[in-house]
Amino acid sequence: MQAAKLYSFKDIRIEEVPIPTVGEGELLVKVETSGICSGDVVPWYIEKKAPLVPGHEPAGVVVKVGGGVTNFKEGDRIVLHHHAPCMECHLCRRHLFSMCPTWRRTNLDPGGMAQYVRLPKTNVAHDTLKLAAETSFEAGALVEPTACCVSAMRRLQINADDTLVVLGLGVMGILNIVVAKFYGVKQIIGVDRVGFRMQKALEVGADAVVDFSKQELKQEVAKLTDGRMATKIIVGPGSIAAMESAMELIGVGGTICLFTPTQGDERWSISPAKLYFEAVSVVASYSCGPTDTQEALRIVESTEKPFPTETLITHRFPLQDFAKAFELMAAAGDSLKVMIYCNP
Ligand SMILES: [Zn+2]
Ligand SMILES: [Zn+2]
Repeated sequence: MQAAKLYSFKDIRIEEVPIPTVGEGELLVKVETSGICSGDVVPWYIEKKAPLVPGHEPAGVVVKVGGGVTNFKEGDRIVLHHHAPCMECHLCRRHLFSMCPTWRRTNLDPGGMAQYVRLPKTNVAHDTLKLAAETSFEAGALVEPTACCVSAMRRLQINADDTLVVLGLGVMGILNIVVAKFYGVKQIIGVDRVGFRMQKALEVGADAVVDFSKQELKQEVAKLTDGRMATKIIVGPGSIAAMESAMELIGVGGTICLFTPTQGDERWSISPAKLYFEAVSVVASYSCGPTDTQEALRIVESTEKPFPTETLITHRFPLQDFAKAFELMAAAGDSLKVMIYCNP
């Protein structure tokens, strides 16, 4: 079979590799669609894992079932999660699934950007979901990124009365707006500087967008909120500058959620007095777990509030052209979700 292999940010090849063999409790899945994640195009983050077959947002069809598997059969259309927790440790009991050592160890073999993947036993048992007959594989491939947004909403304890500011309107910023909208959040303000992305934010339901390259951000948010500022903020970019601007935009009693990591040696200087006297909280949200993917599937398959799959997917490529697709996603211009067809 063919798989895309990333050796470095600028060196991606399509290679011939063996189709994995399936063991006890495992599944072999023919990958139909696989999304490129914003995290995949952060050079320091992906290169420390290289060489690798990237891709952790696949949807496909079960083609072989390992011994002892009773919850799936050949022909099932599924969403697979690359990491799955043990569900038993003290971290899992607190729903900190992405902190579970088992979660971190489990992975797809060889990775989502391949024609077939082997899904390990833990993943089959704890975080694999069946798609409804009317749900497309493309929508299925959006379940994992949507689940990351569900996790962020949980960390923020989002509610309908909130004023949410989303900093950065790449695909994850837009998806965060979609999920916040699903939960009925009263006021959503998107911030970016790329016109195409700001337009998309409005299309999926943002109440206002601010172009921080042209407008005075703090003043604009003050105007839009009658001076109260944000109650919740999602910081999309993994940059200290974005975190600092979140501190400027958060209102009394508000919570800031860091959605993207920084490198380990970076430092952010904050005022403890602000946290104390203005009751400001800072949380972070790293990936997602089984309860998030289940909730994400409910959102993606909702008939009451149709999920905007077509608005989110801006480009489609066959696996052969993965390098080109990757470059486009990394350029972060007029693109949101770039979808790969692994068996076109
Ligand atoms: Zn992802
Ligand atoms: Zn665990």
